[in-house]
Amino acid sequence: MNLKSNSNRKAILEAAINDTFDVVVIGGGITGAGIALDAASRGFKTILVEKGDFAGGTSSRSTKLIHGGLRYLKQFEIALVREVGRERAIVHKLAPHLVSAEKMLLPLTKDGTFGKLSTSLGLFVYDVLAGVEKPDQRVMLSKEEALEKEPLLEEPNLEGAGYYAEYRTDDARLTIEVVKTAIRHQAKCLNYTEAVDFIYNKDKVTGIKCKDYIFNETFDIKAKYVVSAAGPWVDKLRNKNNSLKGKRLHLTKGVHLVVPHEKFPIKQAIYFDVPDGRMIFAIPRNKITYIGTTDTNYKGDIDHVLTETHDAEYLIDAVNHAFPDVSLSLEDVNSSWAGLRPLIHEDGKSASELSRKDEIFESETELISIAGGKLTGYRKMAERIVDLLVKKEDDAADNLKSKKCFTDNIVLEGGDFANADEVENYKQQLFERVKSVDVSYYDIDSLVRNFGSQSDRIIDKFFELLDEHKDAPLIALGRAELWFGIENELVITAADYFIRRTGRLYFDIDSVVTMEDHIIKDLATTFNWDKKRQALEREEIDRYIFESADIFKEGVVK
Ligand code: FAD
Repeated sequence: MNLKSNSNRKAILEAAINDTFDVVVIGGGITGAGIALDAASRGFKTILVEKGDFAGGTSSRSTKLIHGGLRYLKQFEIALVREVGRERAIVHKLAPHLVSAEKMLLPLTKDGTFGKLSTSLGLFVYDVLAGVEKPDQRVMLSKEEALEKEPLLEEPNLEGAGYYAEYRTDDARLTIEVVKTAIRHQAKCLNYTEAVDFIYNKDKVTGIKCKDYIFNETFDIKAKYVVSAAGPWVDKLRNKNNSLKGKRLHLTKGVHLVVPHEKFPIKQAIYFDVPDGRMIFAIPRNKITYIGTTDTNYKGDIDHVLTETHDAEYLIDAVNHAFPDVSLSLEDVNSSWAGLRPLIHEDGKSASELSRKDEIFESETELISIAGGKLTGYRKMAERIVDLLVKKEDDAADNLKSKKCFTDNIVLEGGDFANADEVENYKQQLFERVKSVDVSYYDIDSLVRNFGSQSDRIIDKFFELLDEHKDAPLIALGRAELWFGIENELVITAADYFIRRTGRLYFDIDSVVTMEDHIIKDLATTFNWDKKRQALEREEIDRYIFESADIFKEGVVK
């Protein structure tokens, strides 16, 4: 049975209901996906449930960097910086197409956060902690050299810049590839399935009650261990388990804006000062530049986190302040995303001061919850959880599970390239196949960054569909991606495709408008949708486009 396609959902659900698992993981963000992969690869019979789509929570709303978190050095979080810093190189090795090196420029200005000496020292320590190799280690640039890298920084206060190594990624794609790799190791992973309550035997949690939102059915999953990796929802589940005592989550909101690259034409990624003492990123990505993030306490609805006008104004003001030749306004915003950091509360600390360390909570009924942490550190978070499960198994005599985590050697789906050069060669080969039919290098670059070595299967399908779209080959490409997503990535809604499998809604919003009808039609054929369901999907995508693109222009959100 193909466990990677919702075409088989009935059979997957039936198998889940009739089985007893070692572990059920609640939450299909990067943390839950990482735990499912680690557990399954160590021999635990594993199932994961996600109430929406995989990466539908925070894991599609980050800055999309695999990074050590330079600013945590300022807070002396040395162990955290070392751990996530080292993880960067590992995650790059596991998916070189998806986690690629990207140099970051840190401009130094007269009244900036960091002085020249402290930046030089800080970046040096950052490199050492992360084990960055010599050729990639930080260099300090003069004002002239900084301007050569980024002419838009021209301003009288500029004194130079630090230039150091980071990695870029797509958070949702990383999550889905980890989910697929877990499935390769026999895990069952269900999207659109919510854990609505727990099942107990005497005083121990022995499973979950689930609601399936595709067939609208409820069912039970039985498991020896229940792990909640529900991100911002972790305390909601602890509450349901009557175990919300002691440490709690502290949610902070982070917003990113997307503007057309020509409106903010930076040549390279920059980490720069905001007048209030914080720092934010501006990252060019093909046709767009994105800017973020804010960091503010959040008490609103966790299921509907919106970019508000004041968030957008904060980021726009920050850009206009640091780049005198740029004058962005709300009208320039193409799209945006807003997410919640599931941090651990510490009395007296502001949003930006809270630690990004992860924490594990174990309740009296043995519900294990994990929260905090970073996208970058997902593998180590998973290792800590599965080590805990292995220890519990050890206490229970006949433990046949692998004791040691080996996810540092499990290549993610689509990631079988020896290095970044091989990824580039592969892009070239694919481009040779399609250039005569009006597909650009940009499209191939995006395809391979998203799907890696799986891209040639998508290109094969593209040629099958091309006859129907001779005048608009990009529609054939979009439909081929969708076909792949339905067959291999548990896609079941248009938003799954446009947001979490391809990022088109954020990075190429025009293509969403062009492809919308075709994508909904193919989904309708596959999943037997009636006219009403098709209309609902169209409404949902239109709402996303509207929320993303027009909301500021209309001044709807205050
Ligand atoms: P989530 O991704 O939120 O996943 C939890 C999942 O659980 C959700 O999908 C939710 O739907 C599901 N769920 C909840 N309740 C239930 C239930 N009852 N049943 C079933 N499913 C349920 N980290 C980095 O390393 N690099 C960065 O550049 C970076 N930038 C960031 C920028 C911002 C603005 C933010 C907010 C965070 C950033 N982070 C970054 C941190 C990183 O994004 C998070 O640490 C990470 O995504 C959290 O993943 P998670 O799986 O724990 O939570």
